[in-house]
Amino acid sequence: MSLIVQKFGGTSVADTDRIRAVAEHVVRTRRQGNEVVVVVSAMGKSTDDLLRLANDLHEEPPPRELDMLLTAGERISMSLLCIAISRLGEPSASFTGSQAGILTDTSHGKARILEVRADRLRESLAGGQIVVVAGFQGVSTTRDITTLGRGGSDTTAVALAAALKADVCEIYTDVAGVYTADPRVVPAARKLHAVSYEEMLEMAATGGRVLALRSVEFARNHGVALHVRSSFTWEPGTWVTEEEATMEQAIISAVTHDTSEAKVTITRVPDKPGIAARLFRALADANVNVDMIVQNVSTGGTTDISFTVPKSDLPASQGVTEALAHEIGAEAVTHDDGIARLSLVGAGMKSHPGVAARMFEVLADEGLNIEMISTSSIRISCVVRADQVERGVQALHATFDLDAAPV
Ligand code: ASP
Ligand code: MG
Repeated sequence: MSLIVQKFGGTSVADTDRIRAVAEHVVRTRRQGNEVVVVVSAMGKSTDDLLRLANDLHEEPPPRELDMLLTAGERISMSLLCIAISRLGEPSASFTGSQAGILTDTSHGKARILEVRADRLRESLAGGQIVVVAGFQGVSTTRDITTLGRGGSDTTAVALAAALKADVCEIYTDVAGVYTADPRVVPAARKLHAVSYEEMLEMAATGGRVLALRSVEFARNHGVALHVRSSFTWEPGTWVTEEEATMEQAIISAVTHDTSEAKVTITRVPDKPGIAARLFRALADANVNVDMIVQNVSTGGTTDISFTVPKSDLPASQGVTEALAHEIGAEAVTHDDGIARLSLVGAGMKSHPGVAARMFEVLADEGLNIEMISTSSIRISCVVRADQVERGVQALHATFDLDAAPV
């Protein structure tokens, strides 16, 4: 008997027809002789709707109350799913994150899972029930309800799969798997059969919206095999596992892009030890997620520092950066939210020189100006103008032989 964790995203449980279809699939899986733990997201766009209600009342709602509010979305879908499963004649029980034993730190809105005390779920499974857990939430060390950050239900699923030693964690979504590029931008994009954790991490971090970054980190750290697949067609999707297991030997696996970040620049920062440390410490303390960082060669004892942050962190980073710029005698702080990041990801890059050169040539041919560059051993990213990024994605996809063969 296998233990299977199945996670269903918002579009997969958007209305009662979808919930019924999910219930049928869950029951089918159970009747094939598996133990099943289901993790659900809130229905459709209901998390956004709840957020809108809160923001209608307060531009900065108290984090504790906001978390309490947002976790309601997942409670609705978990109980409705159990009701649908019951109609099909199988026993099931729903659990909030807190009931499921998901213990987090106290950082509201982006809490980290510290521990999963899954005894209650184990008992329920042992009693023959299908277990249904509300995604995206937990209870903190100070006994407040927390959320794990947008898209956090993936992390719930992976954490439960790790704690229960599940055989596989299936992530059901509205796309058929992980693609070589966003199919809305590149119609010739192909579904990948398998990618490594490392590639998936780079893709998730650079705009591949299929899986939340933290869920992939968690899966890699705990060796949880992921299978990303469609809840509309139920066809096999993309496996995310160790690198040796992924058989596709292409140099580049995917082109990703991301328009969710903004660029902050501090000009004429005094060039002396300790300044960057102070700046990025202050940003870290304000919980701002800094991504790419570029510092220029100094001229006349000062230098410019640019970095990117999620647009949602821009107000917080603005406050911190402006206060600090004043303190250290820098000239000015500017913000630019018209940027996009374009990335090539591929484990084959490690053994193939010249990928960066080829990428820059392609962008030059397309007339795209590169504003920032960053690399890892399996990724190259360029910041370009947001209104040009789709052209860059299409050109790179074609150049690196990712386009599907025409049928
Ligand atoms: N409902 C939450 C969100 O929309 C969590 C999730 O879907 O994973 O971000
Ligand atoms: Mg979602």
